[in-house]
Amino acid sequence: DVVIRARDLHLSFGQTQALRGISLDVYPGEILAVMGPSGSGKSTLLHALAGVLVPDAGTVRIGNRMLGELDQTERDDLRLRECGFVFQSGQLLPDLGALDNVTIPLLLAGVKRREALARARFELERLDIAECATRYPAELSGGQAQRVAIARALVARPRVLFADEPTGALDSLAAEHTMIALTDLARADGTAIVLVTHDARTAAYADREIIVRDGKISAGIAVLPTSDGT
Ligand code: ADP
Ligand code: ADP
Repeated sequence: DVVIRARDLHLSFGQTQALRGISLDVYPGEILAVMGPSGSGKSTLLHALAGVLVPDAGTVRIGNRMLGELDQTERDDLRLRECGFVFQSGQLLPDLGALDNVTIPLLLAGVKRREALARARFELERLDIAECATRYPAELSGGQAQRVAIARALVARPRVLFADEPTGALDSLAAEHTMIALTDLARADGTAIVLVTHDARTAAYADREIIVRDGKISAGIAVLPTSDGT
């Protein structure tokens, strides 16, 4: 079965047609790179897949839930349970230490503080940054901060991780280490990744690649031919 199935998504901002008929399947455990020029609709697609933006037309299913059949609270709950997010930078809460940042998704999901701290600590260890636990975001290197963000995105074991230019603010060595950490952990957990990037070296870590141009998929296989169309 698929983790995400999108069909014929259209989405405009005023006169700008950001998505013009995108269909896409994401399979369990796979890493899908979404490439394409700036302004082509990649971020909008990611937000539509995650239920952050509601498309003007078309459908998105996450697991067995159709987003169009949910109200906003239900969509937010689904996102909290099923989706993790990593952005380019600046996503950690500056007034919380690394460990406390990583506990947030668990606390939001109702996990007790003591257990949340234990699981967050384990997640920092998995990412080889246990020594960063008590540091504030401003005291971390760019690569360390991205690892903390990855720990936070994966700690609640989402079905799918959305990563929007996760290496965009890193030098090439830190970018490589970040992608290795991200893909190792996702593979270990069976988490699918939708990876938006315009960096070919980052995209090289994906299993499959599609290119978005002018709000449409212009290259790559977005829907596998074996798909049953449901
Ligand atoms: P990409 O991620 O590929 O750079 P985006 O999805 O961010 O592209 O943007 C696609 C198009 O939609 C661009 O023309 C962009 O300017 C426009 N756009 C994106 N978000 C908004 C918004 N919130 N309001 C108005 N226009 C937007
Ligand atoms: P990316 O680098 O991922 O394409 P952008 O820097 O284009 O992201 O956009 C950052 C944020 O600003 C996104 O949430 C996007 O929806 C919004 N945005 C992009 N273009 C516009 C626009 N023309 N008007 C308003 N908001 C926009």
